[in-house]
Amino acid sequence: MAVLRRRVDELLAVVALQERELAHSRKIFARSSEAAQIGVWECELADNSLRWTDVVYDIFDLPRGSMPTRETTLALYTPQSRAEMERRRSQAIADRTGFSFDAEIVTARGVQKFMRITAQVECENGVAVRIFGMKQDITAEKRAVDRLRHLAAFDEMTGLPNRSQFQERLVNQGAADAISALLLIDLDGFKQVNDGHGHMVGDACLRETAARLLATCASADLVARIGGDEFAVLMGAGANLEDIAECARAITVAMANPFELAGNSHALGASVGIALAKGIDPADLFANADTALYAAKSAGRGTFRIFKGPPKVEGPSITGRNSAAA
Ligand code: GH3
Ligand code: MG
Repeated sequence: MAVLRRRVDELLAVVALQERELAHSRKIFARSSEAAQIGVWECELADNSLRWTDVVYDIFDLPRGSMPTRETTLALYTPQSRAEMERRRSQAIADRTGFSFDAEIVTARGVQKFMRITAQVECENGVAVRIFGMKQDITAEKRAVDRLRHLAAFDEMTGLPNRSQFQERLVNQGAADAISALLLIDLDGFKQVNDGHGHMVGDACLRETAARLLATCASADLVARIGGDEFAVLMGAGANLEDIAECARAITVAMANPFELAGNSHALGASVGIALAKGIDPADLFANADTALYAAKSAGRGTFRIFKGPPKVEGPSITGRNSAAA
């Protein structure tokens, strides 16, 4: 009897030790998951009951330990992310696999967040019984990446697409015959504003120029700032010569209006060079527009010119025309 009693005590001691070790492991797991800001979740497929670590509650801005249901949780996903989540989940259960994707949610406190979800289906005797995985708040990371993407493609001062986005569009749309014309616009006498009133006023003029171009070229495919006081407009394939010339004329008119900034009036103006895209390699389009812009500047500024063909160097012109821009 005493031997049996001792045996039971030994077993109870082992169980107690294992329980302490398990509790300790759980604590370490919870702490490391919290330190890494990675939440762990589990959903029983039989009744959709959920188990979450604290980080998951925090991501959804729900009280820790509350009893969320799958339905109330799904309601916090944006419709698009919810549909994506359901599609991937069903597929993973059917295939007994897993998935990973970035979802957008609006938390219980109304905060927009981005969350990386990884999931794995667990089987017992070949039957899918639960799905579990991790959830991580990636809002800061997503915002940083979005910001870098924006900086890579947009001019910070005016908010317009920058030179690199313009070049990409010129090549891609040009190759797809989706452009009718490229208009290059350069402000007239901009240096005087910079020299006379400072770069801050110059910057304000550039922002005002961007606003006027957007208002004037509403039907254009792209309005970009490609550097300094130079802007570019890509007209879509639907525009005819009349539309293009009208757009260029409207730009010169809009820019001829004085720039009223901080109580001062600044007279600027703009010259426009046009290159028609039909039959022209996109790589040559920019050079053609630049030649036409030079011609507009030479003609006295505040006007536009259309590139009509290569300049006549010697012998008869191949195109039959002999002016670079007229
Ligand atoms: P033109 O009529 O021949 O075009 O001459 P312009 O006085 O307009 O001068 P130009 O186009 O040759 O030079 C543009 C100037 O724009 C030169 C440069 O100092 C200035 N610039 C370039 N980038 C910026 C900028 O981001 N902000 C400001 N304020 N000025 C800039
Ligand atoms: Mg200029």
